[in-house]
Amino acid sequence: MGEDGETASGADGRQAGGIAGRLAAVRHEIARALADSGRPAGAAQLVCVSKTFPAEAVREALDAGQRVFGENYVQEAKAKWPALRADFADVELHMIGPLQSNKAREAVALFDVIHTLDRPSLAAALAAEARRGARMPRLFVQVNTGEEPQKAGIAPADLGAFLQACRDQHGLTVSGLMCIPPADQPPSPHFALLAKLAREHGLQGLSMGMSADFEQAIMLGATHVRVGSAIFGAR
Ligand SMILES: *Cc1c(COP(=O)(O)O)cnc(C)c1O
Repeated sequence: MGEDGETASGADGRQAGGIAGRLAAVRHEIARALADSGRPAGAAQLVCVSKTFPAEAVREALDAGQRVFGENYVQEAKAKWPALRADFADVELHMIGPLQSNKAREAVALFDVIHTLDRPSLAAALAAEARRGARMPRLFVQVNTGEEPQKAGIAPADLGAFLQACRDQHGLTVSGLMCIPPADQPPSPHFALLAKLAREHGLQGLSMGMSADFEQAIMLGATHVRVGSAIFGAR
C-alpha cells in the first residue's frame, strides 16, 4: 500500500488534526525521513499501534486508509479485531507485545506478524503450532540491545545461537529483528546495533522506532516503525 494514505488525506487532513490528520502527518514524516536517507518510498512500513484504543478510534484510522496495525495483548486483539476485520478484509495485524507460550495458538490464528519472538520456549510453542498445520505468521526476533535485565529479548551475544536453533531445531523462518531501546538512553546506537546484527545474520526486516524516534530509526534502516501515541494520542 506504500504511502497512499498520504494522497487519501492530503494537506487538508494533516491540518484538520484528529486521528486522520495525525496519521497523515506521521506518513508524511516517514516519507520525508526515507527521502532524506536516500531510501525508496515505501521502504518503511507504518505499523499503527492501537493498543488500549477502542474500536471507534481504530475505525477512524481504517477509514483514512491505514491497514497495518499493532497490538500488544492477545485478549484485547481478540476482542477488538474480528469485527473490524469483517469490514476491512485486507487488514494486517502485528503482535508487538510480550507473548506467553500458552497463547501461541491464539496468536498464530490472529496475527500476520509476530515481532516478539524472544525466547526458546516461545520458539518451541510456535513450532508446535506449525506442526499442527497452523499458518505461521512472519516472525521477528526481539533483541535486548540494552541488555536490560528486566526487558524481554535475546542478548546480542546469544542471537546467532538462537537464530540457528529457530531454523535447525524448530524449522521456523525468521524475517527480521526488533528492539525497544532503553528509555533513558538515546535510541540511535541501539537502532544501529540492531541494523548491524540484521546485516550479520542476513535478515531483511528491522522493526524499530516508535512515536518519539521513528525518524531516527528510518535513517538507520527501519523497515517497520511502530507508532501509537503520535496517531491516537496519549494512552
Ligand atoms: C506501545 C508500543 C509502541 C508504540 O509506542 P508509542 O510511543 O505510543 O508510539 C511501539 N512498540 C511497542 C513494543 C509498544 O509496546
